[in-house]
Amino acid sequence: MVNIYIIVILLLIITNILFIYAYSKKRKEEKAHQRFKNEIAKSININIKNPVDDFLLHQLTLYIKNLEEKYKSEKYKRRNIFSILDTLSEGIILVSYNQNEIIRVDFANSFAKNIFTTENFVGRSLTEVVDNHNLIELTLKSFKTNKDLEEETSFYYPEKKYFRCQVKSINVENYRVIILLDITKEKNLEDLRREFLTIMSHEMRTPLSVISGYLETILHEPNLDLEIYQPLKKIEEEISRLTRMFNDLLDIERLEKNIGEEKRFVYFNFSNTVKRAFDFFKIVADKMSIEFEEQIEDDLYVFGNEDRLLQVVYNILDNSFKFTALKEKGEKKVWLRLYENDNTIILEIEDTGIGIPSKELKRIFDLFYRVDKSRSRQVPGLGIGLYIVKTVLDNHNARIYLDSEENNGTLFQVILPIKTNNETEV
Ligand code: ADP
Repeated sequence: MVNIYIIVILLLIITNILFIYAYSKKRKEEKAHQRFKNEIAKSININIKNPVDDFLLHQLTLYIKNLEEKYKSEKYKRRNIFSILDTLSEGIILVSYNQNEIIRVDFANSFAKNIFTTENFVGRSLTEVVDNHNLIELTLKSFKTNKDLEEETSFYYPEKKYFRCQVKSINVENYRVIILLDITKEKNLEDLRREFLTIMSHEMRTPLSVISGYLETILHEPNLDLEIYQPLKKIEEEISRLTRMFNDLLDIERLEKNIGEEKRFVYFNFSNTVKRAFDFFKIVADKMSIEFEEQIEDDLYVFGNEDRLLQVVYNILDNSFKFTALKEKGEKKVWLRLYENDNTIILEIEDTGIGIPSKELKRIFDLFYRVDKSRSRQVPGLGIGLYIVKTVLDNHNARIYLDSEENNGTLFQVILPIKTNNETEV
């Protein structure tokens, strides 16, 4: 019985303490609120004793308090977002563009700060902060054309690095976000691979030409047994394929430099060149039982390197036949078209082949890039044909477009500028 009394008394004491604590807390809050109200009243010069003014002041105080809370929570959210952005292994830069045509930096995450030439970047122009002409040009172009753009570029500060730069619009007008993806490892690997293949191609050329020479002599023997002739003929075919492949690899070096022979442009009848390619691939088409149709307008002239442009037609057609032959069922057909449109010459090569998955389209013109290894294994190749196509076309100021659907076919469209005889003197 005594115990119950003690418990009741204890409970009463605790309730009292809690009540006093809550009451004093509330009083403190009320006092702080009152002080805040007084300060506002003083600063906007109103009389608290007037009940209407007091009511308005009360509402205003609540409103300000509310805003303060919101501001605090926004600040907290912002800090969280910034710390997340700082953990990314891609560079993020937020820039704005004003009437004076100056691109200003508003924000950059830790990764991006590493390539800046100064620590005080906020509010400064991109030119002052980044030592990379390509990135500045790309960003400016994105603002001027209102398009999202992407390009690979190398930075030399603080060390040599390669980046894939994307300039993307956001839903705030005159703002862009620049995303920098570090591709240095891939690039270095590609350079190594390229160097190795160039050396190897040089080294392989002599033994291959010796083998071809001997083979040619043997194959010209009049009394050669058919059983020996046939496998030797196969070997000869494979040797010439290898020779072509190594020549392609050596071509890349010359093409990229775009000097000497590469620059020797003439004004020539491109229609005839394309017809020659048609005649050659007609034999291939018949052998592969693939329908091949042409629509080549006569006498379309272009100013360029004839051998290289023939190589473009050849490389694209070669792929069209290779990847149409791979198709297991359905129509197998390739079209070759050449026509003039809007002061340009358009070359189209279309097929009903296995097509290219959409996620691969972006990288299809990259050096050594081949779509998914399993299907590529079925046809020989190194992933250099389209890279050569792209480089030759770049050297001719021409563009190439690609449209493809997996299992349905592919269309390559090349657009060559028409130059009159007067414009051809370069
Ligand atoms: P490769 O020597 O491997 O043919 P390319 O640079 O010519 O190299 O082509 C790269 C890749 O693009 C090919 O491996 C192939 O997967 C894909 N490709 C090119 N053209 C076509 C096409 N017409 N149809 C389907 N895939 C194609």
